[in-house]
Amino acid sequence: MTPNSWKQSKEFINLISDKLTVLLESSEFETTRSQLMELIQSLDKRYGITINCIIDVIDWEEERILPLLNTGISTTESGEIFRTWNDASPQKYVIDGEIHVVPQDFCPSCWNDWGFKWKKRTCPECGIKLGEECKILLDSDVCPHCKDGIISMNKPVCIECGFKIDPNCVVWG
Ligand SMILES: [Zn+2]
Ligand SMILES: [Zn+2]
Repeated sequence: MTPNSWKQSKEFINLISDKLTVLLESSEFETTRSQLMELIQSLDKRYGITINCIIDVIDWEEERILPLLNTGISTTESGEIFRTWNDASPQKYVIDGEIHVVPQDFCPSCWNDWGFKWKKRTCPECGIKLGEECKILLDSDVCPHCKDGIISMNKPVCIECGFKIDPNCVVWG
């Protein structure tokens, strides 16, 4: 996928996910929710249940899939229902002084899958290296690992998740 096609898809994804929210919270869906509750109550405590709506873009030429949205409802260990949400959140990078924005877990240079960048520092497809020609642009103090804690140049360890930023891998915006 290219930056442009991603941009184009995002508008539709937002529209569709808004509609899905309306549907999941509607009275028409109430029957499904109560059936889900009945099912979870009939099962052993060790089990949880998830209903997911997934939107993927399939690239026929390169034979790969880019997940754009994964949302639905799921049950907690105590049996309550909560909303699940994963929308391929964007991540900013700097390569050769230029800013690139791509979905998380993708390579900002070749747009192939590249997850766990903090551990696997080299893109498996094009060989670009995090901390060398490619850096993560952090322009907020939100922890890039858990998205809950706060992190900064002076406080490089997240209090929420314990993640420690390697200063060689980031550029502070
Ligand atoms: Zn790459
Ligand atoms: Zn964190």
